[in-house]
Order: sequence, then structure tokens, then C-alpha cells
Amino acid sequence: MLGWLRDYLRKPEGRAGQHPHYLEIMVARTGQPAHTFRINLDTLKKSGRALGMLFLAWFGGTFYVAYSHISNMEAIASASQQAEKIAQLESSNQRLAEEKQSMGQYVFNLRARVEELAVRVHGMVNRTQTEFPVEANRPQGGVAIPLSSANAAEMMRKEFSLFDENIDNLLPELETTLAREFSRPVGSPIAGDIDISSRYGVRNNPFGSGHEFHNGIDFIVDRGTPVLATGPGRIEAAGYDGPNGNRVAINHGFGYRSVYAHLSKVSVKPGETVERGQAVGLSGNTGRSSGPHLHYTLYYRGQTINPARYVKAN
Ligand SMILES: [Zn+2]
Repeated sequence: MLGWLRDYLRKPEGRAGQHPHYLEIMVARTGQPAHTFRINLDTLKKSGRALGMLFLAWFGGTFYVAYSHISNMEAIASASQQAEKIAQLESSNQRLAEEKQSMGQYVFNLRARVEELAVRVHGMVNRTQTEFPVEANRPQGGVAIPLSSANAAEMMRKEFSLFDENIDNLLPELETTLAREFSRPVGSPIAGDIDISSRYGVRNNPFGSGHEFHNGIDFIVDRGTPVLATGPGRIEAAGYDGPNGNRVAINHGFGYRSVYAHLSKVSVKPGETVERGQAVGLSGNTGRSSGPHLHYTLYYRGQTINPARYVKAN
């Protein structure tokens, strides 16, 4: 740069070099010799041009720096906007994650309740043993897929199809349960107040010494009292049967049977269907009986059960 400037300012060649333009300034002072200043106009012009070029270079550089600065400011502003957008997106993501978590918990609780309901219904249908017992805090494991935004919809769909399946399984169970509950022999075979002379279980032999197992309940009633079916069913047996005397046996379905013994009169026939509360005969003192009473026996799955709970259930 300096070398170029030196060459540029060197004395011109050719015609301009042979006939340079000069400006001479003479300064005369009293009592002093005159001073003459000589300025080469060509060199002055060249210097002016060089200064102009330097000024242009400075101006260009300054403009460039200023422009760069403004560009940077714009980039910073843009970056700031981007950061704001990212923050908004992150906040939105956080909200979605929280909603997803809450939805997951909701579905989990809902499933637990449906499963609990299923267990209860199973329990009602088969009181002795639930088919699929579900207990809390049992060992768990296996392949698990964490709930994420990407698979949430698919998981929900699967989860709801499980509900569908559970409800599909529950409905027939519930219908069976309702039918069974409706058919269960409950209540008293005698209208009005009841007076029990002998409960279910071991008792003294009313006809002699020792003990015997009494497989039902004896109701003290006047001879000729209407004897009522304790549940809907089909008459399985009706007529004389040795120690039971005249007796009626009803099959209620679902493993339940009821027997009414020592009757004076039987008013139904085998195969007939009866409703709850319908009279099947009149009480009496037939068969192995020490006095007028109604002997009432309940069977569940071939075994006698204590009728007390069922009589009181009504
Ligand atoms: Zn009895």
C-alpha cells in the first residue's frame, strides 16, 4: 500500500513530467529576505485523489462495519424470537406431557375399577372361588411400552378395547347373577310372624335318646297353614316320601332346591313351575313328625345349607 502510494506520488513521466505545473508563493517581510514556497500542483492533485480514495476506503469500511452490526442486531432479534417460540413450544410440550400423565393415570384407575367390578361379579357368580383373582402388590413384569405422545392414541385404543372386552364379559355374568339372585330361595315359607321350634344343626332326637343332625328349620304353624314357595322354580317332587310325609321339592336352578315337608295337602304337580310366594300346599303332621309343623330344607349344589340366613334375607 505504502509502496503503491510512493510510486503514485512519484514525479510523472512523459509530457506531464517534462512540463510540471507549479504554484509559487512568495512571502516578503520587511528587513528580511523574501521566502518563496513552491508547490507542485500535479503532486497536490495526486495527493488529493489519494486522500479521496482513502476517505472512500474509510467510508466503505465504516459502512460495512455498521451494516454488519445492524445485520447482527437483526440476527440477535430473530434468535430472540426463535428462543421465545422454543420456550412456548416447550411449555406446550410440558402441558401435553402433564395431560398425558393425567390421562394415563385416569385410564389406569378406570381399568382398576372395571377389573375390581369384574372380580366382584365373578365372586357373586361363584362365591366359593373367583375365576381370575386379582390381588394388589403381586410381582409384576414383562415387556412394557412406556406411554409417550407418539403411542398414546394407540395405547388408549387398546385400553378402551380392553374395557369393551371386560364389559362384554361382564354383561352375561351380570345377567346370570341377576337371574340367580332372582331365583334364589329367600324369605319365609310361612306368611306373617314365624315361630321356630328347631334350628338347623345337631339337636336332641325328638323321638328318643341321643342326637341327630337336623337338616332344616321347623316352623311351628297351625295345621292347614298355606306353605309358600320361597323362590321361583320347577316342582321336582310332590307327594308322599316316608319320613318327610307329604312333601314338595322345588328346583330353583343355579344349584338351589327347597323342600317343604309334613304337609297335610299338596297342591302342585311335578314339572309345574311356581312363582315366589305361591302356595304349594298346606302344613300338617304327616311322616316322622311329633306335632303340626312345617319342616323346611334348603339345598345348594346337593348339600343342605342353613336356611336361617335365607329366611331372614327377605
Ligand atoms: Zn324338621
